[in-house]
Amino acid sequence: MEAKEWKEKLLLEKKNGYDRMPKEEREAMDRYCAGYKAFLDAGKTERECVREGIRLAREKGFRPYERGMALKSGDKVYLDNRGKMLMLAVIGQKPLSEGAQITAAHIDSPRLDLKPSPLYEESEMAYLKTHYYGGIRKYQWVTIPLEIHGVVALKDGKTVSVVIGEGEEPKLVVNDLLPHLGAEQSKKTLAEGITGEQLNILVGSEPMEGAEKDRVKLAVMKRLYEKYGITEEDFISAELEAVPAAGAVDVGLDGSMIGAYGHDDRVCSYAALKALLDLEEVPGKTAVCVLADKEEIGSVGVSGMLTAAFDTFMEDLCQGQDVPVRVCLEKSFCLSADVTAAFDPNFGDVYEKRNSAFLNYGIGLCKYTGSRGKGGASDASAELVAYVRRIFDENGVVWQMAELGKIDAGGGGTVAAYMANRNIDTLDAGVPVLAMHAPFEVVAKLDCYMTYKGMTAVYKN
Ligand code: MN
Ligand code: MN
Repeated sequence: MEAKEWKEKLLLEKKNGYDRMPKEEREAMDRYCAGYKAFLDAGKTERECVREGIRLAREKGFRPYERGMALKSGDKVYLDNRGKMLMLAVIGQKPLSEGAQITAAHIDSPRLDLKPSPLYEESEMAYLKTHYYGGIRKYQWVTIPLEIHGVVALKDGKTVSVVIGEGEEPKLVVNDLLPHLGAEQSKKTLAEGITGEQLNILVGSEPMEGAEKDRVKLAVMKRLYEKYGITEEDFISAELEAVPAAGAVDVGLDGSMIGAYGHDDRVCSYAALKALLDLEEVPGKTAVCVLADKEEIGSVGVSGMLTAAFDTFMEDLCQGQDVPVRVCLEKSFCLSADVTAAFDPNFGDVYEKRNSAFLNYGIGLCKYTGSRGKGGASDASAELVAYVRRIFDENGVVWQMAELGKIDAGGGGTVAAYMANRNIDTLDAGVPVLAMHAPFEVVAKLDCYMTYKGMTAVYKN
């Protein structure tokens, strides 16, 4: 063998995905990414993602799952958990006693939630107070147009959908200080420059005619009453989320990337969902896709990945085949599909280049996440990583190994540990993202498409 061949055989060399992707796949990639951008525009909250996910699933023949319903190989079902978490399954040829092939991603993203008593007037301007959700860098959320999506639950049992600032509607904003007066603020750290209690959204400045006090606040409340039939007290039972008022767009002169709010983790959620919907043949094992809520605040609650709703769904499916759920789970595999950090040369010193994910190098596999010595990570077994390497290679998936930044530079977690705790062999994998958790995050189209191909490989194996 020539020295060059030996080198190729023996040494790991990362290769740009464009050098490894067949030219004819470019069109499929572009079509896939167009669908993804539409999904992002339709789903700016977890509830909207569930709604859009169900719409897409029904188009492909999925039916709502009901406990006890008889299912046979090839049947496609979904379960809507309280409008915030979606679980879907395609019943496989093999019984559930041989395990299921599961993908788990999350559809909640960092944002500004309205407080229960949000509306106030100050200096004849009306504002909404917010409580940020998830790990945001607060200074990134000022001076950008915002819109509000969510629901208001009324005492009579009705739930009103609210969308403020979409399309041609006026936008909302959190203001920042002008540099001319920012001398003291500029001395603060990035973490302290804008505080949580300063993330107040400006919503009006025109006073209501004839009113004596709180004139601007009253004018705002009147508009909300006229449009949605809600009163100030109704904010108490509402889930209103302020999100960036911008659609998903191509980025770069070459259009090779997508910029949008919410790639974390809708980019993996869409891949996991679309791959399941696109399955053309009945998979060997039952394929399950979980799109969970609340990952950004610890996966807790009835709609987070720790919820018993998932166990119940699996148990119900197993019961239909007289299989104990524990037997199914111990033979199952889960790809915890969540984004990872892409190497950013502008901030190169927080990454360890040899073990970082790069844009256009494909879906990133993370053996472990966590912080301070893998704390909080489930740390997948060597055998499991080998299994995923094999099925990805066999299915033409461009992939790379990824670690989230330098040791002790920070860290993060995913739902992987919660799936692994259920006795499911679990590995993290996902799309590398630039500026993760920012109001405008960037991913490479090639990595999005390869993640879709990766999910397909999981369902088929
Ligand atoms: Mn995530
Ligand atoms: Mn996140």
